[in-house]
This record gives sequence, C-alpha cells and structure tokens, in this order.
Amino acid sequence: MEQVLLITGASRGIGAATARLAGQRGWRVVVNYQSRAEEAQAVVAHVVASGSEAVAIQADVSNEAGVLALFEQTRQHFGRLDGLVNNAGVVDQVAKLQDMDSARLERMLRINVLGPMLCAREAVRRMSRHSGGQGGVIVNIGSAASRIGSAAQYVDYAASKGAIDTFTLGLAREVAAEGIRVNAVRPGIIDTDIHASGGQPDKARDSATGIPLLRAGRAEEVAQAVLWLLSEEASYTTGAILDVSGGR
Ligand code: NAP
Repeated sequence: MEQVLLITGASRGIGAATARLAGQRGWRVVVNYQSRAEEAQAVVAHVVASGSEAVAIQADVSNEAGVLALFEQTRQHFGRLDGLVNNAGVVDQVAKLQDMDSARLERMLRINVLGPMLCAREAVRRMSRHSGGQGGVIVNIGSAASRIGSAAQYVDYAASKGAIDTFTLGLAREVAAEGIRVNAVRPGIIDTDIHASGGQPDKARDSATGIPLLRAGRAEEVAQAVLWLLSEEASYTTGAILDVSGGR
C-alpha cells in the first residue's frame, strides 16, 4: 500500500512544492492549509494528476484541537500515516524586539514552535513501533535565520527556528529506536509569498547579491531535499539539519 505523508501548510510555497513532488514519488498526500482552500485544492488536483492520491484538510496547527482533528481526519481518510513534514510557518513585519508586543510573540511561537511539536507528537503516537505503528519519518522545516539571528528584522522568527533545530536533534534521538527518523531542512531565502506577508515582497530578488549562488532559491529546490530525507536513500540519516541556502 502506498505510504501516506502529511504536510502542514501545503497550500502554497515550499509545502505545496513538497506535496507536488511527493505525489510524483508515489506518496499519498495530506495537504493541510489554514485559510486558502482553493490553493490547497489545486495542489490536490496536481497530485491526483500525477497518479497518486491526496486530500486537503483545513486546520490551524497552532491550536491543539485543530491538530488533533487534522490527524483524526487523516486516519479516517487514509487509515495510516508514514511521514510528516512540519512546514507551516510565518514571519511578521520587520521590527526590533523593543517594538514587539506579546500578542505577536505568542502568535509566532504558537505557529512556528508549538504547532510543529504538537504535530510531531501526534505523528510519533501513530508511527512508533512501540505503540504498534510501522515506524516513519519526520522532516521539520527550519530556517537559516536560526544561524544568523535576524537582528533588527525578526529575532522572534529566528529564535522560533532555533527551537526547531534543537527539537529536531532531541526528538531524533528520542524516537530512533521506535523506527522513526527525524531531520530538518534549513532553507535560506526562497522565492515564496512569505516575504510579502512580512512586508518585504521584493526580498527574494533584492537579496540575490548577498547569496554565494547569487540568487534566491525556488520552493522546488527545498522540496527535493525534503523528499530525499523522507526517502529510503536517507535510511541512516537522523538528527541531521540540511542547509538549502545557496551557500549563505
Ligand atoms: P508561505 O508561502 O507563506 O506559505 C505558508 C503556508 O503555511 C501556507 O500554506 C499557509 O496556509 C500555511 N499556514 C500558515 N499558518 C498556518 C497555521 N497556523 N496552520 C496551518 N497552516 C498554516 O511560506 P513558505 O515560504 O513556503 O514557508 C514554508 C516554511 O518554510 C515555513 O516554516 C518558513 O518559516 C520556512 N522558510 C521559508 C523561507 C523562505 O524564504 N520562503 C526561508 C526559510 C524557512 P494558507 O495558504 O491557507 O494561509
């Protein structure tokens, strides 16, 4: 039976590219989204056109009830789970810490840290061999921001991605004996909508000269790295953080 992969935030950007490529590689795909149902359905249609199966499921990953419903609907639809890509994430407007209010910080940490931890918990509960599962694989999407700190841009975002790095290392060791591999991909500047949502629509184009490969990356280039980590080719890779950042 074809394996089932749940990707959070798969209606657009890196998540959507990962869903499309996963479909081509034979994964059956759960396309999670928060608000853009039409975009999510277009990703589902793409996966189906490539000969696999997919379903779009709305859920806000920053909310525990939403995460539980997402995994329950996945079970009802496909009856199994073999992989999770913790991709959903947000940035916010460029600001210094002194100007960030508590609501902003809480939203950032809920979506970028709490959400991935809750999703990973639910995936481990289902995939763990000790709990009767078949094993599985988790890929967390971090960010090169965790290495540079994003001073005077969004230190809250960078710190949230630092948490993802550490979470990846610890969880990988915690669940390795249960047949679950856990890795992270740390993208650099990738040309997606996320920059516009942070008030910097031209960021991908404007950053090119500061990147050793002299251009922003494409979502599909991140998806290739994710699919490798999900695959059997990465069978001895766990606790790894793979930079996909053009050398930056
Ligand atoms: P994007 O184009 O803005 O897409 C974000 C996706 O996340 C959308 O599918 C969105 O759903 C979903 N989402 C947002 N909040 C959610 C929530 N609370 N619950 C469920 N889904 C939610 O972003 P992207 O650039 O592809 O980024 C994807 C990941 O890569 C993020 O973790 C980001 O931090 C990371 N990353 C990106 C870059 C970059 O330069 N693009 C660099 C480093 C790391 P809707 O469409 O329904 O709103």
